[in-house]
Amino acid sequence: MPESILIVEDEPALQDTLAYNLKKEGYTVEAVGDGRTALESARKLKPDLIVLDIMLPEMDGFEVARILRKEMTSAILMLTARDDEIDRVVGLEVGADDYLTKPFSMRELVARVKSQLRRTRQLREELGKPTEPTAHETLTFGDLSINLTRREVTLRGDVLAMKPKEYELLLFFAEHKSQMLSREFILERVWGWDYIGDSRTVDVHVRWLRQKIESDAANPVRIVTVRGGGYRFEG
Ligand code: CA
Repeated sequence: MPESILIVEDEPALQDTLAYNLKKEGYTVEAVGDGRTALESARKLKPDLIVLDIMLPEMDGFEVARILRKEMTSAILMLTARDDEIDRVVGLEVGADDYLTKPFSMRELVARVKSQLRRTRQLREELGKPTEPTAHETLTFGDLSINLTRREVTLRGDVLAMKPKEYELLLFFAEHKSQMLSREFILERVWGWDYIGDSRTVDVHVRWLRQKIESDAANPVRIVTVRGGGYRFEG
């Protein structure tokens, strides 16, 4: 069955172009032009991915994403027009899986959609697998531990609320302890993007992680910034 995509974009020309290019890739595509209709269509369609513009009539993309996040597991790729929206887009408030800043090329959009759907498939396959308990199911760093079977992070015994991306990023750090990791490398391995992209996404997620796992997020000792463009996990 082809994967389904819901496009939410109020600008008719862009909506048409998006729909045309994604249909051409073989996806089942539905396109709507305002926030309220987007909610209705998403509930009916349960799409694998939603391409969601932020500035929309009726209800903006932030609100739509916030509501749908609670109701379904569709991946969300947001279209932003302004740089200052990015923190909200990738942050905890909205938690989009990816974003593109306008203007963007259709080639880039299709690459991001494919990469996101591939990740969703992988995640579903992993979730479907029976879990085999192993001797190494927990990684421990002082009072911080990561339970790989339950995908759960605890700090001093308390379970931390983690978004999937934050968990993946922390796990990636944990698996590369004491190594200097460039933003580009992290982006490629954790987000799986097909190109060397915008490293601000990494910075924003590191900031969120630090707020959760550092005693003092302003003076981090676990995830340290390395001069010259990267991070190192010290455990
Ligand atoms: Ca718009």
